[in-house]
Amino acid sequence: MNFPTPTLPERSTATGYADNPLDRLSEKRDDSALIEALMASPQARAVVIVRDRPVMRPRGDGVSHLFGIEEAQALGLVRETALLGCDADHAYFGLLLDDSAAEFEEKADETGMVDTRRLVLRSRPDLDLTDLRSIAVQGLLDARGCGLLGEAKSLLYWHARHRFCSACGSPSTLASAGWRRDCASCKAMHFPRTDPVVIMLAVDGDRCLMGRSGRFGKGMYSALAGFLEPGETIEGAVRREIKEESGIDVGRVHYVASQPWPFPSSLMIGCLAEATSTEIVIDKTELEDARWFTKAEVTAMLERRHPDYSPPNPVAIAYHLLKAWVEMA
Ligand SMILES: [Zn+2]
Repeated sequence: MNFPTPTLPERSTATGYADNPLDRLSEKRDDSALIEALMASPQARAVVIVRDRPVMRPRGDGVSHLFGIEEAQALGLVRETALLGCDADHAYFGLLLDDSAAEFEEKADETGMVDTRRLVLRSRPDLDLTDLRSIAVQGLLDARGCGLLGEAKSLLYWHARHRFCSACGSPSTLASAGWRRDCASCKAMHFPRTDPVVIMLAVDGDRCLMGRSGRFGKGMYSALAGFLEPGETIEGAVRREIKEESGIDVGRVHYVASQPWPFPSSLMIGCLAEATSTEIVIDKTELEDARWFTKAEVTAMLERRHPDYSPPNPVAIAYHLLKAWVEMA
């Protein structure tokens, strides 16, 4: 394979949830006077998460994800508040509301057979609780908005599920403007986690390997993927996952791009890998099917003119891996 010289903007920036150029003020998070001043400023804005869903405000033909701080705080019991970062205009905070702020609106269909319940905010039924995947896939928000919500959701999800010290079991409390939890009992400090996932295409000359799980829509194939394990390199994880899922051996591994994936807190590490064998043996517990696709087939898939197969959504890094491979000489 011939790899093009990297150019700016990096390919990573084209993936969903990646467009997030805020100054995170990471060296100033322990300056509580500064954090309070930022929060009290009329320029402060908040995004609000309830039960892992962002609160969205209908606005004109679309939606907005931003609230004033006081309005956000009035939406329900605020469990945690974290500083997400600043740009030239605003300081952005993420607020996590208690689960009780939302409830399911009872609305069965006429037959009573189909569960059509909608999650709504008790205090403001005029606002929507929309899952972040739908927001990105349906294009409800621009890329910057999706990036900010992705950061907020991953961070606040971690707070919601790490309320007790993993060392001694005592309650822990938010610290460092939301980027740490401290245990008053044993003094342990806990930091938000990011889970690395390798996602890759094995390449054999003019063909690349893709698979599909039973959960995918009809005809959709995508890159293989799996969690990187403790003690493992990126290259090692790529080789192991491809071998486990498809039986294909892999030699050299090339990094292409990465993507924050807030479901709940992954970092997708996108790679191309040089296949050294070609006979596929599918792991049926992981995949429904796997097969080689030629560049012509992948091009037709990306251009939505393949009669049988479709690519992953452009929000996902898998789409951009395919695009990178097709564009390579
Ligand atoms: Zn502790």
